[in-house]
Amino acid sequence: MKAVIIGGGVAGPVAAMALQKAGIDSTLYDAHPISAHGVGATMGLSTNGLAALQILGVHRAVADAGFPCPRGVMWLGDGRRLGEDVPTPLPDGITAIQLLRADLYAVLHECAATRGVRIEHGRRLVKVDHRGDQVVARFADGGEAVGDVLIGADGMRSATRQFVAPGAPRPRYCGIFGTSGFAHGLDLDTEPGTFHMVFGKRAFFGYVQREDGCVWWFVNVPATREPAPAELAAIPAEQWRHRLRELLVVDASPAARIIQATPPGYGWFVSHQMKAPKTWHRGRAVLIGDAAHVTSPSSGQGAAMAIEDAMELARCLRDLPLAQALPAYQRLREGRLRKVHVGAQQVNRSKSATGVGRVLRDAMFPVLMKRFGSPQALAWLYDHRIDFDSTVVPGTG
Ligand SMILES: Cc1cc2nc3c(=O)[nH]c(=O)nc-3n(C[C@H](O)[C@H](O)[C@H](O)COP(=O)(O)OP(=O)(O)OC[C@H]3O[C@@H](n4cnc5c(N)ncnc54)[C@H](O)[C@@H]3O)c2cc1C
Repeated sequence: MKAVIIGGGVAGPVAAMALQKAGIDSTLYDAHPISAHGVGATMGLSTNGLAALQILGVHRAVADAGFPCPRGVMWLGDGRRLGEDVPTPLPDGITAIQLLRADLYAVLHECAATRGVRIEHGRRLVKVDHRGDQVVARFADGGEAVGDVLIGADGMRSATRQFVAPGAPRPRYCGIFGTSGFAHGLDLDTEPGTFHMVFGKRAFFGYVQREDGCVWWFVNVPATREPAPAELAAIPAEQWRHRLRELLVVDASPAARIIQATPPGYGWFVSHQMKAPKTWHRGRAVLIGDAAHVTSPSSGQGAAMAIEDAMELARCLRDLPLAQALPAYQRLREGRLRKVHVGAQQVNRSKSATGVGRVLRDAMFPVLMKRFGSPQALAWLYDHRIDFDSTVVPGTG
């Protein structure tokens, strides 16, 4: 079997390495001329995602590209501590990490390339066709690639999705936009590697200090109307710094000080989420990662879900004929994805609450956290492990 993989972000290189482990040959095509393009934001990778990478023996390389973040603590803007989140480390001691999205892309590419995966940059998919028993990827440069299966790992604005599920819902704005940055020279009363999440009065703020003292942070600002990227970029950085400080200074957290200690200059992101379409495959084409289901950054799980998808799809393609493998893959993944999306929606609602909604949130939060924020309540998410060696049987899921 030969696989054509479209997209070399997170899901694509992982799928290529997982297919290789399953004895399936693949070539990866990405639209951009280089890897790790324009993805400057910071991100977290949780233990479930790292455990899936461990199957391929690349989790340590990925962990080394970031820094350990074994503990998350949640706060309200008035200084009340809501609870903490300490996912069980992997047996070799690796814990959740923070890293740059660009570094995750780069290290996954490097691992795949070192293993002999063929990667072609500057190849933008524009159309998917079937020709007899094969599937054909057509590129903007006029070229094509032919395979037995086409894996759409081409992210939130997937071109493959337009072929697989033309009626799929579009990614929906989640009510928040944000930016991230790095601050130096601060003396914060915090343990390195503890990620603080502050559900503030006017905005949400996350921050963590590295061993070397550098503070990584991000902010989510509520806005009912989705801002256009150009609109955000048009506001001068100094003005933004002032605005961010105004939003954060009302909270009992070091957020405003962190903003002040960060040189102004911001890259903006607008949060989206998209429910998976009814069917994730059509003919010989199938969707994985954000192409199948956009998981909003608030879940902290978009990359981990993309990695898990890639691993499960490779298992299914290894063990079942294509016509059974693609539905089996979807069945294995869709329930878990639905749960992650519901969780992210709840977090987004809490982050975007203003006025009375925010007062209600602050009253309810401590109670909800006790029930849904405990390590036991979150074990389904972080302790999920893919049994790659076990055989997928027809009708599985
Ligand atoms: C600001 C921000 C913060 C985030 N924080 C987190 C976090 O903390 N934790 C987490 O797990 N996730 C986080 N995410 C989400 C995570 O980055 C995504 O869920 C993840 O990257 C999805 O991987 P993917 O491979 O499916 O898609 P992508 O990483 O988007 O990769 C898609 C690839 O497809 C290529 N491509 C696109 N169109 C075409 C085409 N037509 N032809 C060929 N190639 C194409 C692109 O060039 C790209 O390389 C965050 C996202 C954002 C924006």
